[in-house]
Amino acid sequence: MAGLSQDCFAHGGALLPVEEAAALLLARVVPLSGTETLPLRAARGRILAEPLIAPHDLPPFRNSAVDGYAFRLADRPPDGWMPLAARIAAGQAAAPLPPGSAARVFTGAPVPEGADTIAMQENTTALPGQAPATVCLPPGLAAGANIRPAAEDIARGEQALPTGHRLDAAAIGLAAALGRATLSLTRRPVVGVFSTGDELVEPGHPLRPAQAHDSNRHTLLALLDTLPVEARDLGILPDRAAATADALRHAASRHDLLLTSGGISAGEEDHVRAAIQAQGTLHFWKLAVKPGKPAAMGVVGGTPVVGLPGNPVAAVVAFLHLARPLALRLAGAAPSALPRYPAIAGFAHAKKPGRREYLRVSLRNGIAERQGHDGAGLIGSLARSDALLELAEHATAIEPGAPVSVIPFAGLL
Ligand code: AMP
Ligand code: MG
Repeated sequence: MAGLSQDCFAHGGALLPVEEAAALLLARVVPLSGTETLPLRAARGRILAEPLIAPHDLPPFRNSAVDGYAFRLADRPPDGWMPLAARIAAGQAAAPLPPGSAARVFTGAPVPEGADTIAMQENTTALPGQAPATVCLPPGLAAGANIRPAAEDIARGEQALPTGHRLDAAAIGLAAALGRATLSLTRRPVVGVFSTGDELVEPGHPLRPAQAHDSNRHTLLALLDTLPVEARDLGILPDRAAATADALRHAASRHDLLLTSGGISAGEEDHVRAAIQAQGTLHFWKLAVKPGKPAAMGVVGGTPVVGLPGNPVAAVVAFLHLARPLALRLAGAAPSALPRYPAIAGFAHAKKPGRREYLRVSLRNGIAERQGHDGAGLIGSLARSDALLELAEHATAIEPGAPVSVIPFAGLL
């Protein structure tokens, strides 16, 4: 279904740097075709299928930034007193200002032709009862003060947002400000999520000995819900080669992307990698990342399949690096890296060179602190964290006070 080209980028089995893996995927996946036009209310998080071009200036007309008095700066007499010739509220059309006079204006009201400056009402003295009503305008204002020029933000004909832009609340507001009630959006990829493992039990059911609740599928579905995709729950696969292969083949024809978790290590109970290989092409399956080393990428029936690790934290790390950018690319989103921010390490840590490593941390005032144990299976410590601290492949140690790079969970999880 998805346009993944079939040229071989198989990897020899050595550890693949995670950025290389992601680049391999992205270069070979073509965004899905198909668009739909939806009201703004349904557009948040979706991807623009065409550029948003401004049909008019923004602001549409020159208007007042404050409640106050509009006047021509050159007309202000030395004593500051000017007669009031007009009162212009927001929504009212403004006639040209007679020379030598001022107009009462309110925030958002048009600035009358002939006025070039606005004094805030707090800085004026008005005598409205007099005939004519007069106002004393303060000295020291610069021409243009408190005026919002037309097109100050965006000019008519300008591209306000490009194709591929992912719409957040601000972008929705911008579209509305430009008069758009609907937007043309890309089709959402249909993403199916499997868990694998005979030990897994659906939440809501009691555990018998040797069983654990399936958390990955729910984590992954929730992660997908942050993306412009339609996520579908495909249940738990047993640890059996034939059943796994059948399920992948069957699901491939109905989805644009398939995610699995577990069953991709080298163990004899791990069948996902073999199933991808049996049904299609396996492109790589080992990443130079900790946690998240076993992570398979292949194609079954033209549909990309990402085999994520079984350990819950590793599954999230691999999802963020592989599945997320892949889903966004299928959805037609402009490429964007995971957001990284500088922080200061609040702890010491040693690592072996060779793999990129992610540590779960909490952030307080820019200081990153460890959150409990770092086992790849410990979902609780992930839930207590608010960022992943990223240690480069070549790094071997950090000390308290060291500058580090973190990937905050806000917007990602
Ligand atoms: P595997 O890669 O299948 O050997 O799984 C590695 C570890 O992750 C094992 O401890 C599994 O029990 C665990 N695991 C695999 N899938 C899930 C899942 N869906 N939810 C929670 N834990 C899982
Ligand atoms: Mg398993």
